[in-house]
Amino acid sequence: MDMNKIQMVDLKGQYLKIKPLIDAAIAECIDNTAFINGPQVKRFGENLSNYLNVSYVIPCANGTDALQIAMMTLGLERGDEVIVPSFTYVATAEVIGLLGLVPVMVDVDPLSFNITANIIKNAITAKTKAIVPVHLFGQCADMAPIMELAKAYGLHVIEDTAQALGADYRFPDGTVQKAGTVGDIGCTSFFPSKNLGCYGDGGALFTRNKELAEKIMMIANHGQVKKYVHKYIGVNSRLDTIQAAILDVKLKHLDDYAEVRETCASRYDKGLASVSGITIPYRVPFSTHVFHQYTLRIAGGKRDGLKKYLEEAGIPAMIYYPIPLNEQEAFGEIGRIAGDLKVTGQLCAEVLSLPIHTEMVEQEQDYIIEKIKEFFKEV
Ligand SMILES: *Cc1c(COP(=O)(O)O)cnc(C)c1O
Repeated sequence: MDMNKIQMVDLKGQYLKIKPLIDAAIAECIDNTAFINGPQVKRFGENLSNYLNVSYVIPCANGTDALQIAMMTLGLERGDEVIVPSFTYVATAEVIGLLGLVPVMVDVDPLSFNITANIIKNAITAKTKAIVPVHLFGQCADMAPIMELAKAYGLHVIEDTAQALGADYRFPDGTVQKAGTVGDIGCTSFFPSKNLGCYGDGGALFTRNKELAEKIMMIANHGQVKKYVHKYIGVNSRLDTIQAAILDVKLKHLDDYAEVRETCASRYDKGLASVSGITIPYRVPFSTHVFHQYTLRIAGGKRDGLKKYLEEAGIPAMIYYPIPLNEQEAFGEIGRIAGDLKVTGQLCAEVLSLPIHTEMVEQEQDYIIEKIKEFFKEV
């Protein structure tokens, strides 16, 4: 096997398996020249809403736009506080700052890497208006207690589902709902490397609320009520027809993709669980894990050494995320830090994500596991 070929994601291999369908879907779009708002956009939105079992899916241009549109839809005002995890991708908090709102950065749970109702509760003030749980790396934050807290304090909940599309959240009573369909609005991204990725940029919002859905549609389309009548200041955020056509093909494979990722994760678990100094991903009881990332914790200051060792052996590994939001210059002036963010600091120093994707083969994983054990002198 050519070890130089190990990749974090293998978009080419994934494409080749469904090439005739994808090529035909793209060709159809070009043939019809309905590049903007073609019938494929509506069809994909309907198919995704069926898959998620949510009343409304509004496609848009990317995941960051989805978050921004969600914030704009909820009628938040300058100075309002929005609680976000400090351990996440920048987009989650960036849109909050962009709208003149205050991102309040809180710590995360050391096992799941997600925010919890208890952590959020300590950060609530009279100015708090919304919470953004991020279902990091493919596993849901514990939504039932978060929704209860939100209800008690009258807060909006916007789920950032960019990394967990397709994951199932299980309520204490056994009811199951898809990630992103529990809060007021769910947001996702179809960036190529996401679990459901298109061949460019794409995103979507979900909601069960008709009024919110109508306002989201307007905000995403220049605040337009009907042609040339504008009720709100909006944005221009559309999913391209070609991207929708590609996504509609790939949506049918999303559950199979998640299954392959799960198989890969279990194989890593088995190979690495006993290596001392490594903590394998924790699996919460209330959510399935769609393994957008397979992320280890490497204790004792050895993370960077291991990353280098793997790279020299032709194995890419990534640090998501090396710098927390609270240490980003961009949020220095406008953000508020709530609590000591101790776990976030530890995670930034310890996390390492291994290659995981839908085309991964056993041989590659065996090699990666072997090299990791070699580094820890366990072979
Ligand atoms: C990818 C991602 C986004 C942003 O999505 P884009 O489509 O790249 O704008 C937002 N939040 C999280 C957690 C992400 O992983």
